[in-house]
Amino acid sequence: MLTGKNAVVTGSTSGIGLAIARGLAAQGANVMINGLGSAQDNEAIRQSIEADFAVKVLFSPANMLKPEQIVAMIAEAEQTFGSVDILVNNAGIQFVAPIEEFPNDKWDAIIAINLTSAFHTIKAVTPGMKQHKWGRIINTASAHALVASPYKSAYVAAKHAIAGLTKTVALELAEFGTTVNAIAPGYVWTPLVEQQVADTAKVRGISEEQVKQDVMLKAQPTKKFVTVEEVAAVAVFLCSDSAASITGSTLPVDGGWTAQ
Ligand code: NAD
Repeated sequence: MLTGKNAVVTGSTSGIGLAIARGLAAQGANVMINGLGSAQDNEAIRQSIEADFAVKVLFSPANMLKPEQIVAMIAEAEQTFGSVDILVNNAGIQFVAPIEEFPNDKWDAIIAINLTSAFHTIKAVTPGMKQHKWGRIINTASAHALVASPYKSAYVAAKHAIAGLTKTVALELAEFGTTVNAIAPGYVWTPLVEQQVADTAKVRGISEEQVKQDVMLKAQPTKKFVTVEEVAAVAVFLCSDSAASITGSTLPVDGGWTAQ
């Protein structure tokens, strides 16, 4: 379905991003993956996607905190692949603290990685998508793009803002065969959530099991964590021609959380 298309997926050495990169590669797209972590681990991930799906896979170590590295990452993908047809802004971090104690540097980092990096990538890929009159931009937002939870001020602010960015760019690119959407997952069991369990337990003064059952899955009527494959399947569908009329949307994949 996506043979001949070239994708960049930020934050794709783990969790949801890795599943999306693998999902796009499975459909024949070449993929540039990106993330932090050890060069050895990232090379192993790159090689495994290339071997599993017989597509070209590049790795970029660009740090989503650094605009110049973000711009260089897109330029490298365009140069090596010839175009960037699919952009998935997925890199994200979380930090949990009451507002009066929320560290300023954590606020800045969450806004930079979860929101501003997407501004820079979108700005960089837009000329190519307009020229080719085809493109798919997908932002991994969150149920927290639609509703809030306490102690997550920066994250909720960034995710609500990315829903707004999604709508705006969708309008600007609507006549250029390019769709722009956000996916809003509920709780997905990934390293990001695993880390949050301990932090939330500390902030709320409850056990880690209580955090899973009474905080996270309480919000999710299915009482199940969403899987990374379920999120990736939605991303792959949004890249298909069948999804050409879906643009500007923020699609919940949240086990019913935001229906309440
Ligand atoms: P994860 O921690 O498993 O993966 C995060 C990825 O982002 C990793 O590849 C990491 O290397 C990369 N990353 C982090 N900081 C970076 C930086 N400065 N520069 C470049 N890469 C960086 O997390 P995940 O749970 O898969 O989350 C992925 C996205 O999904 C995030 O935007 C997150 O907010 C969103 N999300 C997650 C959940 C969930 O429950 N896990 C729910 C809703 C939305």
